[in-house]
Amino acid sequence: MYKIVITGAAGFIGSHLLTTFSKSNFQIIATDKTPPATELLRTERFKFVSTNHTIIECDITDFKAVQQLINTHKPDLIIHLAAATGIAESLTNPQLYFDTNVVGFYNVIESARQAGVKKLIYASSSSVYPANSPSIFTEDLKTDNQLSFYGSTKKTNEILANSYATNFGMNCIGLRFFTVYGSWVRSDMAGFKFMNALVNNQPITLYNDGNVYRDFTHVNDIVRGIQLMTEKVINDNQANDSRLFNIGFGNPNSILEYLNQIAFCLNVTPTIITKPLPVNELISTHASTAKLVHYIDYKPNTTLNAGVTEMTNWFINHIKKS
Ligand code: NAD
Repeated sequence: MYKIVITGAAGFIGSHLLTTFSKSNFQIIATDKTPPATELLRTERFKFVSTNHTIIECDITDFKAVQQLINTHKPDLIIHLAAATGIAESLTNPQLYFDTNVVGFYNVIESARQAGVKKLIYASSSSVYPANSPSIFTEDLKTDNQLSFYGSTKKTNEILANSYATNFGMNCIGLRFFTVYGSWVRSDMAGFKFMNALVNNQPITLYNDGNVYRDFTHVNDIVRGIQLMTEKVINDNQANDSRLFNIGFGNPNSILEYLNQIAFCLNVTPTIITKPLPVNELISTHASTAKLVHYIDYKPNTTLNAGVTEMTNWFINHIKKS
């Protein structure tokens, strides 16, 4: 039975991946770091995940802890999702992002090398694309400039992964996720903020009158993509291989449309305040999924309407009631 270590397994995407993989034939070693009690949604999610799965505590900024974890389990593959997430905080707390996303990433990939673990799938981001990108993002575009520090930490991961593949014979796959949403969405993301404001009759801030476009991708489609990639990577014998793939729905919507769908599902009329777009945010993201389709026959199929319904149902039944 193949053994897989998942980092960030109690996070938004990680928790969904864990639920899916726990029904598979893989042996899963799930790790994360207990969130601070002040982070209510993360704490709630951590508790929820821990009722059904064993989460091994491991802080990825602690090299010895990561080394011990990976050396003890010697997995066939590591799926590395743990990170400091969100663009805004990376500008007020770059140290956290550097420690978690750059040093933490190094700790994971170097521990893998030392333990003889050759395969790594890791989370990159659409935030690696620069502001002057063409309207559709393809993986071969130049990504020398990022608008946010968060984006630069993810770009650093891609560079390190490439180097570990070239120098140490690893097989590294970076998945550039595009605006993921769904149940257990992070509290710093627009989806959660909108739902929370709507049910509490608070105004909602939209940038650029809501004319900001995101390639919203439902978490079930992300999990399916990771699952297909896992099956491909774990069964092949590639070495010295580093690849990057967009993983997105491939059809952007405006934030205003996203808000309207959420408001419709919650049966609330939103009160909107508009502000200029922060300089570190892209005006539009649009994933070309051709490379991923070709590699693993990836077909996202959750429409915005179906995905928002799933997310708002979770919010009504789980968060609003609690
Ligand atoms: P998340 O914040 O819910 O999950 C990240 C997890 O990492 C959390 O469970 C957190 O506890 C863990 N973590 C943070 N610091 C840690 C540390 N020092 N040691 C161990 N664990 C630590 O975020 P998510 O939305 O599930 O994102 C998962 C991955 O996907 C991240 O790498 C993120 O950058 C990337 N990503 C997400 C999106 C999105 O739209 N959600 C988009 C692009 C990229």
